[in-house]
Amino acid sequence: MKAGVLHAPHDLRIEDRPEPTFGADDVVIHVRFNGLCGTDATEYAKGPMMVPLTNRHPGSGHVGPTTLGHEFIGEIVDAGANVRSRIGERVACGAGISCGACRWCSSGRTNLCERYYTLGLSTHGGLAEFVAAPSGICIPIPDSCLDNNAALAQPLAVGIHSVRRARVVAGDTVVVLGTGAIGSFILAALAGHNGPVIALDIDQSRLDTARILGATQTHLIIPEATSADVRDLLPSGAQIVFETAGVIGSAERAFALAARGGRVVLVGLTKVPQPLTLADLVLREVDVTTTVAHVCGTDVPEAVTLLDRTDLASILPVSVISLDDVVQSGLERLSRGAAAGKILVDPRG
Ligand SMILES: [Zn+2]
Ligand SMILES: [Zn+2]
Repeated sequence: MKAGVLHAPHDLRIEDRPEPTFGADDVVIHVRFNGLCGTDATEYAKGPMMVPLTNRHPGSGHVGPTTLGHEFIGEIVDAGANVRSRIGERVACGAGISCGACRWCSSGRTNLCERYYTLGLSTHGGLAEFVAAPSGICIPIPDSCLDNNAALAQPLAVGIHSVRRARVVAGDTVVVLGTGAIGSFILAALAGHNGPVIALDIDQSRLDTARILGATQTHLIIPEATSADVRDLLPSGAQIVFETAGVIGSAERAFALAARGGRVVLVGLTKVPQPLTLADLVLREVDVTTTVAHVCGTDVPEAVTLLDRTDLASILPVSVISLDDVVQSGLERLSRGAAAGKILVDPRG
């Protein structure tokens, strides 16, 4: 079968690979769409950070060249002995695999599982004609939900999880700082929030999309905007601030936007240490929350339900490319920050 395999930074090859092997509780998915995200672009351009090209992954046991792709949907075409009844189902895969037995799994926090690993990052994923996945992380897609919407289930589940972690209540003023891919999915997950939703970004076209997604107010800021600049935009502050940009200075801006007693949810990943005046946070009792990935059993089904009634694919918007074109039109553009909307790869095309 054809697969997009990462061998080294800037070396992703479309090559012929054996079809996946699978266990008694696994299904084999004939991939319809695999979405590309910032993580794929980072692994391709600056990695490997998560892909185990040289060191064996402790959870997956995999090492070496790896088929990318952790946002995929498709039809179940084969299955292990315990789950053969699922053949023929159209499913969205959560991609994150947890052990089901550790302390974190037992308390429902499967995304923190001590043996957690991700298809397409820690072992072979969905940027291929076929991929094997545990049946339990494959969520059925209703017939009424189109493929291009269903393909957004995994990243939307990440947005839904972020919003869950934020513990937003009716009436809260919510700020989304950075409305790129993850910011957009957070806005989509906030649909129906009863209260102001304020989006800030350095790109006007992203803010236009944020409006359609439900932002009640948008502010264009410059990349060098200081804490004082953003506080001037929102003098009374917000109860909830999502920091999604993950760039130098963005955490400081997020805390400046939080009201007394508010909460900042850190979503963006910044490896560089960030200067923060902690006394300011303490004296204003600003809470800090973090969020990572999603809880497959709750967040992915909720994402599929939301996508069944919202045409998110036409809002973002979604574009489709072939697997042969994944480097030029996909990963290269994403890593240069030159891709608007969401790119889906059709491995059959
Ligand atoms: Zn992703
Ligand atoms: Zn576990």
